Amino acid sequence: SIYGDYIKSVIRTVPDWPQPGVNFRDITPLLQNSSAFRKLIDSFVHRYQDLELDAIAAIDARGFIVGAPLAYELGCSFVPVRKKGKLPFKTISETYTLEYGEAEVELHSDAFREGDRILVVDDLIATGGTMLAAAKLITRSGGHVVETSTIVDLPDLGGADRIREAGFNVFAVCS
Ligand code: IMP
Repeated sequence: SIYGDYIKSVIRTVPDWPQPGVNFRDITPLLQNSSAFRKLIDSFVHRYQDLELDAIAAIDARGFIVGAPLAYELGCSFVPVRKKGKLPFKTISETYTLEYGEAEVELHSDAFREGDRILVVDDLIATGGTMLAAAKLITRSGGHVVETSTIVDLPDLGGADRIREAGFNVFAVCS
């Protein structure tokens, strides 16, 4: 993507967090750097400004950081995809498996209309499980997932391939 190498250079890797052997990709240095944060949002705006999206569905919690300014800038609605138990109204949910155990994402049943053009955003794709669950949930509720989009993709984990195999487009600002 246009600013991919630069964005990558302001993401910090924290070794052995939250567990030994895990390299955590930490976007807080990127957020602290106002020109990097602007370039990040501009990367998404540049890609999506002509696609006539109806809504940005952003994944709890770091997806919100990108999703809110993007919805504002593109003039479309903002829909939170939340972890289980956070949304107060009627919800639909999708369960997915983690390395150890299960997780669940939820969406309000009135979050958008049949056929709405939806972009799903999150900060990072690792195994792809979270993004894929969100995309399936939106599809089940009648939305058209135009693309799934992330700041960082970790290609060695095969998450983006898995999401594409399920029939969704994937965009990453950097890998
Ligand atoms: P996945 O479901 O395995 O693709 O994991 C992606 C989800 O876990 C996203 O919602 C990320 O916010 C979070 N995540 C996993 N690894 C990292 C990381 O290294 N940095 C930031 N978030 C991560």
